Amino acid sequence: MQLSPEDEQFRRRVRQWLEQGLTGRFAALRGAGGPGREEEAHAGRLAWNRHLAAAGWTCLSWPPEHGGRGATLAQQVIFHEEYARAGAPTRVGYLGEELVGPTLIAFGTPEQQRRFLPAIKAVDELWCQGYSEPGAGSDLAAVSTTAALDGDEWVITGQKIWTSLAHVADWCFLLARTQAGSRRSEGLSYLLVPMRQSGITVRPIRQLTGTSEFNEVFFDGARTRRDLVVGAPGDGWRVAMGTLSFERGVATLGQQIGFERELGRLVEAARRTGAADDPVLRDKLARAWIGLAAMRAHALHTLEGGPEPAGPGAASAGAASTGAASTGAASTGAASTAPSVLKMLWSRWHQELGELAMEVLGAPSMVARGAPYDLDDWQRLFLFSRADTIYGGSDEIQRNIIAGRALGLPRQARP
Ligand SMILES: Cc1cc2nc3c(=O)[nH]c(=O)nc-3n(C[C@H](O)[C@H](O)[C@H](O)COP(=O)(O)OP(=O)(O)OC[C@H]3O[C@@H](n4cnc5c(N)ncnc54)[C@H](O)[C@@H]3O)c2cc1C
Repeated sequence: MQLSPEDEQFRRRVRQWLEQGLTGRFAALRGAGGPGREEEAHAGRLAWNRHLAAAGWTCLSWPPEHGGRGATLAQQVIFHEEYARAGAPTRVGYLGEELVGPTLIAFGTPEQQRRFLPAIKAVDELWCQGYSEPGAGSDLAAVSTTAALDGDEWVITGQKIWTSLAHVADWCFLLARTQAGSRRSEGLSYLLVPMRQSGITVRPIRQLTGTSEFNEVFFDGARTRRDLVVGAPGDGWRVAMGTLSFERGVATLGQQIGFERELGRLVEAARRTGAADDPVLRDKLARAWIGLAAMRAHALHTLEGGPEPAGPGAASAGAASTGAASTGAASTGAASTAPSVLKMLWSRWHQELGELAMEVLGAPSMVARGAPYDLDDWQRLFLFSRADTIYGGSDEIQRNIIAGRALGLPRQARP
């Protein structure tokens, strides 16, 4: 990516602000949060996220008329890279900033935008995403949670699952069936629902890592106002797919800086444990470095709008692109395979890094540091990265998308 002198100046400004910002009460937050460690220092990270907001470092990509900075692509990339490089804590408001905020900008009414965007930007309200259900994950169109109008309110009944951060969220954006008897993607609506009400029960799910960052959420006559539907009632599928298309855009480059740091720490550990003298492990470490370089090149190429390799599916790509719903970000109708390729590259890479870490650290990595379940960072990475190939659209779903869009293979028969 070509950076101008202004971009370099922007980088210096971000770097300097972060260096100064991550001192005093925020110094201890470096490295806190992130996948598998969302429970860490929540109150401190919330305060940090609000501090970022007050200085204008949230919602960089949003247009100025909606309170954003209207940052260029290069500036967004720089911000995420510098943020990761500084080891700044994972933001607690990212679901609002990166998913529901852009959705409201694209599909919301002016009233909805005025009501919600300032609070998202200031991190005054936190959000969670209520898509998945026990019977609707990869096959999102199987959503069975219902919402029916009762006067001026929607009444919601059903269950969501794997809802990240629902236990700290003020609001949930969810997909519910509002047209009785409708099937698949028809008759769904995209609702904004306040979480703190008696009709909602949030039950944490304990994960392999011993922590609980996602939840089951039960809606038992929960209510939200009639006008808090985004897009028209019954048009929720289109809006929901729009949200998925915002998932992990430029933030992916920040994620890669985090990966680079993890690999750097693993190389140091390999030197310390002697694993660096083992030819097989040396080979795997070198391959990890190559994988990271390939991922970065792919991400930059994609963000800059570079062409995809021509495949036999190019002509029929549009036809193969939607349908069997997936929570993969790529299922929006734009026939690109790039998000699927990137998702597969990083999720596989990260899982393999966790496995490699266990090999580098050897037998001690099999024992928890303390009772009853006090894991170190590597053990946590190894265990949590099992989820990498599931959330944001599983590997199998990404392969199906690539098979249809790039290779032009027929859509898989539904059992
Ligand atoms: C850490 C984490 C956080 C999450 N956070 C959220 C959240 O905040 N909000 C939310 O709504 N959801 C969230 N999810 C849920 C996530 O989107 C789903 O887990 C995912 O879409 C897969 O759905 P499922 O778990 O129901 O698995 P299923 O869809 O039942 O799939 C089970 C297995 O079958 C495979 N499979 C399914 N269909 C096909 C097919 N057509 N062809 C080939 N193989 C197939 C899958 O790849 C998978 O291996 C989260 C998940 C995780 C792990």
